Amino acid sequence: MWSTGEMTPPGISVESTRPLGQSILRGLRCRCLVCGVGKLFPRFLKLTPVCRYCGEELHHARPDDAPPYFVILIVGHVVVPLVLIAEEVFSPPSWLTASVSATVACLLAVALLSPVKGAIVGLQWANRMHGFDPRTRADAGDDWERNRAPAAGHWR
Ligand SMILES: [Zn+2]
Repeated sequence: MWSTGEMTPPGISVESTRPLGQSILRGLRCRCLVCGVGKLFPRFLKLTPVCRYCGEELHHARPDDAPPYFVILIVGHVVVPLVLIAEEVFSPPSWLTASVSATVACLLAVALLSPVKGAIVGLQWANRMHGFDPRTRADAGDDWERNRAPAAGHWR
């Protein structure tokens, strides 16, 4: 039994607990995972490196291909049943079904990409994945600077 609470593993203080549901919801709202005020994306899908309100470093996020994967999964599960229902009820011409469903799928995908990416980043932050764990940062160095800065002589 842990002394600081049921969900707090040993070695992690109460102040540093990161509620999974709250951080995913804040990510879905495209807000900072810590304070819930700062913007997670100053531009479309461009993650802010540091929150302007609380100073939390968010550049450790590595969502990679997970957001488009989940967006395709969600859009497919929404659009395909709607197409099947419309086909059964209205029997529209094929060109109409194809054009409307493709348009809806594209718009839905664009609308969902930022919230889903925010949720993935929230999941990573809450689970201290990648560089979000302060205990491993000192050992690992600053991967963000190393991975993003061009190596000396790279452009020669
Ligand atoms: Zn913040």
